[in-house]
Amino acid sequence: MMRLTILGSGTNIHPTRAASGYLVRTDHTLLLDFGPRTLANLMKTGMNRHRITHILFSHYHADHFSDFITYFFDAMIFTKYQGGTRPPLTVIGPRGTKRFFRTLFSTLPGFMHAPFAVHFKEVSDRAFVIGNTKVIPRTVTHTQNLHCLGYRIEYGGKALAYSGDSQYCDSLVRLCGDVDLAVLDCSFPASRPSPVHLHAGQCGQVAREAGIGRLVLSHFYPITERYNVREQAGESFGGHILVGKDLMTIKL
Ligand SMILES: [Zn+2]
Ligand SMILES: [Zn+2]
Repeated sequence: MMRLTILGSGTNIHPTRAASGYLVRTDHTLLLDFGPRTLANLMKTGMNRHRITHILFSHYHADHFSDFITYFFDAMIFTKYQGGTRPPLTVIGPRGTKRFFRTLFSTLPGFMHAPFAVHFKEVSDRAFVIGNTKVIPRTVTHTQNLHCLGYRIEYGGKALAYSGDSQYCDSLVRLCGDVDLAVLDCSFPASRPSPVHLHAGQCGQVAREAGIGRLVLSHFYPITERYNVREQAGESFGGHILVGKDLMTIKL
């Protein structure tokens, strides 16, 4: 069985939601993105944060990344001064990941000297495995000149897709093809579209074209709370639609 827990369904600054972050439990414990306030929600799940072995980033806009710094600093203190141990940590992300972390780690005090193994892996459009979990990254279109990934995760005969931040694009439809559950960037309502994100109507369109099982709408900007995004997505998608909420857990 695979379990998805939404750690954050909002964006950078949002009054009631943390930014992007998802906990995925298969034979491994993975995180998809690690945006602001998602670490606090991770603590609320009651799971041991030191058991996370893989963090997969879609891109490095701060709303998908910034709690990683706090998390890593804590992991260093835990292993250096509190007698803790933890498994190696593998950080996976789009093109530029190695350069990004080299710069960050050489600038932040102590980060180069963590007492546990840290690996960085740049991925593009090629599948790989983590134990019995299959991960398929796919390049999606978000902002210009930025390599952004969506991820498809397959385990125990089930598949889930996460769009990361994405516009409507064929690549996203292919990423989501026939998945049991897709978590899509629903930044805006159909009446207030943005050039770099999906809107609720397009989330429904992607869900229909990809033939998915259940659709989870997420990554809401504050303005989007004023609109009925479920209804807007439902205009093109007849399947089950969930409006994402922080700490919601979905089994598949
Ligand atoms: Zn972004
Ligand atoms: Zn974002």
